[in-house]
Amino acid sequence: MPMAKLAGSPALKTTVMFEGIRYSDALGAAAEHSLPNYFPYRFKAGEHDPTGTGKASIPYLINTEDDTLIRVLGNGDSPWSVVGNRQEGYKLVHDERRDDPVAIRFEPLHDWLQQQTSDGFPIAQAGVSTHGDMMVINVAPGCEYFLNKVDGKSMRCTFCSYGAPDKRTAHLGQVAGQVAIPELTIKRMHEAMDAVTGETEINHIYLVGGSLTDYEQEGQRFLQLARAVQANNPGKISVTLGSGALPDEILQQFYDEQLVDAVCFNLEVWSEALFARVCPGKNNYVGYDRWIKSLERAVELWGRGRVYSAMVAGIELEPEYDMEWEEAADLAVQGVQDLCSRGIIPIYSLYYPTGGKDRSDYQSRLRSYFEHLALSYRDIRRQHELSVWDGFMCNRCAYMQLECDMDRQTEGQVSNGQ
Ligand code: SF4
Repeated sequence: MPMAKLAGSPALKTTVMFEGIRYSDALGAAAEHSLPNYFPYRFKAGEHDPTGTGKASIPYLINTEDDTLIRVLGNGDSPWSVVGNRQEGYKLVHDERRDDPVAIRFEPLHDWLQQQTSDGFPIAQAGVSTHGDMMVINVAPGCEYFLNKVDGKSMRCTFCSYGAPDKRTAHLGQVAGQVAIPELTIKRMHEAMDAVTGETEINHIYLVGGSLTDYEQEGQRFLQLARAVQANNPGKISVTLGSGALPDEILQQFYDEQLVDAVCFNLEVWSEALFARVCPGKNNYVGYDRWIKSLERAVELWGRGRVYSAMVAGIELEPEYDMEWEEAADLAVQGVQDLCSRGIIPIYSLYYPTGGKDRSDYQSRLRSYFEHLALSYRDIRRQHELSVWDGFMCNRCAYMQLECDMDRQTEGQVSNGQ
């Protein structure tokens, strides 16, 4: 039986996400007026390095003409590079298909990133960021799971790069053990929101933050945050609650006060066994069953299509889980079936496993897993008549996920190639 293949924009996005982009003068020049990448470009040995420093700033996000958003991954071995300039436009070209360039834009370096609040605080550090038309609010990023061990094992999720509430969160007034968000932080957040919406079209607001070991307290913090955000949301932009799973009474409060339009409690991986290993803190302080029950309660309140769970696609391919890609993909598809049948929509973000790179088939197994899952999941969403609600997220802000790009493809654009 011929295997289905990704086609159109999702295929291009997947290819560029996996293969990355090689440095060129045009890419370097674009960095001067683009949202900067969190990861600088690192020149490989022998690669021409015009900076002479071994690394260079590069843009974070590219947009194609059909508004597909793609994260830039620097890779000196990639066949993809960028040509052109700001005036005439940029193009993404493949070494073997140089006569078939893809017109692109870069997510701009917004003016607000250089501005300050009325008390002289840098807006870029006020806990507000954007990607595409999504504004992410994260004014308490420190996660208490990083501070705790059980039986000698850290409670942090294995893939997470957040960190504990410590000196890195001090500029936001976040201190370990303190539930409430300081008023000064909220005031600066309001000014940052105004600066962002004054400059960029925002269609989604996403509330996130680190976890607390008491999920009732986590709920109280997010209630305070959501009330504060809604007090400064005159355009009634859709708001999604991106906390951990919360107790029923707190969910009811969110619903009764109409504080959020959707929720996203991240299960990260499917199956209780994997959840316990990948997310020991969530498993220990909330528990797998309570996590699923909380998602189900959210479906009862907000309805099918308004409840999400972010997943880290590919973490199961880390060597310690000892899974071949077919087995990992089958398990993930099982999870997709189960969650969709409960009205919950998982959202898969590509994860690059850090281990297992010595396997010669490292890239191909990850890519096979990701493509197989994306294609199977598209069909399952259709069977369950579910699609990603555009108030939650859309193709203009999903930079590591394919669901929105695939949902907007029409039947004719979907290939069933060889
Ligand atoms: S709960 Fe969230 S912030 Fe905390 S370790 Fe896990 S992924 Fe990171």
